[in-house]
Amino acid sequence: MQRETLFADVILPQALPQLLTYRVPHILNESVCEGQRIIVQLGKSKLLTGIIRKLHNTAPANYAAKYIEAILDEKPLIHETQMQLWEWIANYYCCTVGEVMNAALPSGLKLASETKFSLNPEWEELQHDWSDKEEKIIVALQSRGTITLDDASEILQLKQVQTILKRLIEKGAIISEEELREKFKPKTVDYVTLGATADTEEKLQIIFSELEKRKAQKQSDTLMIFLQQSAWDQGKRNEVPRLKLQEAAKVNSGVIAAMVEKNIFEVTTKEVGRLAIHLLASDKVKSLSEEQFGAYNEINECFKEKDIALLHGITSSGKTEIYSTLIEDALKTNKQVLFLLPEIALTTQIIHRLRKYFGKRVGVYHSGYSENERTEVWNKVLSDTPGECDVILGARSALFLPFNRLGLVIVDEEHEQSYKQQDPAPRYHARDTAIWLAKKFNAKVLLGSATPSIETFWNAKQNRYKLVTLTKRYGGIEIPEIEICDLRPETKAKTMKNNFSSHLINAMQQALNAGEQIILFQNRRGYTPLWECHSCGWIPQCTRCDVSLTYHKQANLLKCHYCGYSTPPIQACNACGSKDVRMIGFGTEKIEEDLSLFFPEARVQRLDLDTTRSKSGYQKIISDFESGHTQILVGTQMVTKGLDFDNVSLVGIMNADKMLNYPDFRSIERGYQLMMQVAGRAGRKNKQGKVIIQTSAPNHWLLEMIKKGDYNAFYEKEINERHHFGYPPFVRMLRITLKHKEDDVCDKAAEHIGKKLRAMLDDKLLGPEKPYVPRINNYYLRQLLVKLDKRPESNALKYTIVKTIKDTLLETEFKQIRLAIDVDPI
Ligand code: ADP
Ligand code: ZN
Ligand code: ZN
Repeated sequence: MQRETLFADVILPQALPQLLTYRVPHILNESVCEGQRIIVQLGKSKLLTGIIRKLHNTAPANYAAKYIEAILDEKPLIHETQMQLWEWIANYYCCTVGEVMNAALPSGLKLASETKFSLNPEWEELQHDWSDKEEKIIVALQSRGTITLDDASEILQLKQVQTILKRLIEKGAIISEEELREKFKPKTVDYVTLGATADTEEKLQIIFSELEKRKAQKQSDTLMIFLQQSAWDQGKRNEVPRLKLQEAAKVNSGVIAAMVEKNIFEVTTKEVGRLAIHLLASDKVKSLSEEQFGAYNEINECFKEKDIALLHGITSSGKTEIYSTLIEDALKTNKQVLFLLPEIALTTQIIHRLRKYFGKRVGVYHSGYSENERTEVWNKVLSDTPGECDVILGARSALFLPFNRLGLVIVDEEHEQSYKQQDPAPRYHARDTAIWLAKKFNAKVLLGSATPSIETFWNAKQNRYKLVTLTKRYGGIEIPEIEICDLRPETKAKTMKNNFSSHLINAMQQALNAGEQIILFQNRRGYTPLWECHSCGWIPQCTRCDVSLTYHKQANLLKCHYCGYSTPPIQACNACGSKDVRMIGFGTEKIEEDLSLFFPEARVQRLDLDTTRSKSGYQKIISDFESGHTQILVGTQMVTKGLDFDNVSLVGIMNADKMLNYPDFRSIERGYQLMMQVAGRAGRKNKQGKVIIQTSAPNHWLLEMIKKGDYNAFYEKEINERHHFGYPPFVRMLRITLKHKEDDVCDKAAEHIGKKLRAMLDDKLLGPEKPYVPRINNYYLRQLLVKLDKRPESNALKYTIVKTIKDTLLETEFKQIRLAIDVDPI
């Protein structure tokens, strides 16, 4: 009988325009399946993890298919739906499926030629029965420390080194640094129990006297401490974690090992999940208030006929409680839930709340977690263990998990910009992608926000989504009073203290006297954003980017917020030599310093990118504020994010002016969202909170609307502007960015492309022009903006545009140009 020859179309984690086809070795015919990971060779020597998209019998027409090197999974790692999701993203956002794969899989699941291997630190304890090839690898590792798959190929002068390395891993001689799945080790804990020579009181007495005789004080102490820690339980002693015992007895593992040797102790190793298995649900979902229950019913009604609802509820109206009730319902019908959050590292409070309700059913998935933790969540979802990880709480990449019975998707704070991935591709919007994904599963989508994005609210107005509104805060807490504080008269009367109006200072003093807490918001980190020469107006600029540097006082450096460049502060003007260089503007660091002058007694903390480089840094600042230890919290937009404090009576917005004019059609929307979100942090039980907005433009219409808290009025005005000037949601935008090390080349390419596109698009093309920051990290930039009608035909036009650009960039002089295509840019 003729053997069947199988071919596989393979997705590789690279920006390749098409899938490559590989040949399946006959011996693997029975083992291959679609969605499975395999190892294949790309180019001359590169080995990569790929995913089998499709199996078929057709050899590629234009090249000889290489063989698949190895199979990594027995079963598919992702399902058909996920592969379709990747393809939809690639298609809609104009990138390659490989780029999507890169974003979709945690790197623990991607073994590439670049994967590094090193010697297992304990390898010498093993027997030395290596083959020649293995020996060569080990010798190389001894001198080099680490090697990659490519290196190994070179060392052995052999293409297929996969199996050799795999065997070395199995023998325990080497480990891979990016832990691949084959060696993905569950975390284990050692437990100590009493051994055979010590399992009764009598035997223990004997042992103690023996230890005493032999002056084995350490062992005797350790045993004593063990007995204290392992209380009797039903005629048996409880086990004690080995590390805990060592710590309490102040001994090392050698002492325990010696006692195991004598059968005093026994050590057993148990697997524990890295995930919070021990977190049991401890609380029932709260019963909803009347208004909340009304909204919940409306949502359920809506879900009978529509798939998407928008919950527009002001801060503290109890959106999270409604989400929780809906999650509970979905779980009862045996569905999975995806709960998306923006920048999840900043939302520990929500994780906490949901864990309390759903315990280990909650799986958390985001980039702040280690690769192992992410891989573990991935595998849990894949194996679909009932009652575990069926509520996924995650940032945008959680969309890619291998769900197969998704029933509900919640997108909290749907207006947040961080839902859009910027760089690298895929530049996808997680909210919009989630809507596509939900549709595939016939799942329902709930978008939630206190300040919905203009696009989403428009969709609701168009009756595409059902709008559900919550207008009251839970528990009768009043909406804060918003005051606009005009800085001009205070400046004139010289009553300003640095950047604080006397009005703000007085309100702060009152709040502190009453034992209440304060949040101050300034959307700029660092000390001062600008240094300026008073004589000639010269401003220190980044050497790599066309932006001014921000002074950071604590670090005593001028830093670039675009590329990270930093330099010591200047003593004199670089242009005219004058020593009269002044600081203009202020950031969070400066406010923090001012506070120590004006309120020397107050306990102040700062929450911004600089103070939260570590995950724990953020948590410490939040918990200090929650516990009431910190009285004043100063921060950037981080303080506006999903935090719920109950003793904040005053919020100060230090300077609204920048938010009122920024060169972007979304600036007004952003200003509204930022100010309303931070304002929403004010208010306590039994007392109305207060928000003070400092500005030099008190009559700006946006401030009027913020003062009234009138979202609808704001929306109406803004949607009219968008309509008038032809901006989303009335059109789709496409942003094309070109980058090159030389300004001329970049300019020329942009002009070239501009000319071709203008012929197709006429006034639907804006630019080419220099962006707001025209040079970043020594790359010069040019941008073109395209407005596309919202018609089905526009998709074809989109591809024509992209093709035109790519074709132009094939010309020799433009080969080095880097291209970024952003569909629906934020
Ligand atoms: P939002 O998500 O709209 O900002 P939250 O769900 O965080 O609002 O609710 C604000 C506060 O009110 C939280 O502390 C929450 O526990 C409490 N809360 C809201 N609804 C209820 C309810 N039905 N029963 C008890 N507490 C509630
Ligand atoms: Zn000067
Ligand atoms: Zn820079």
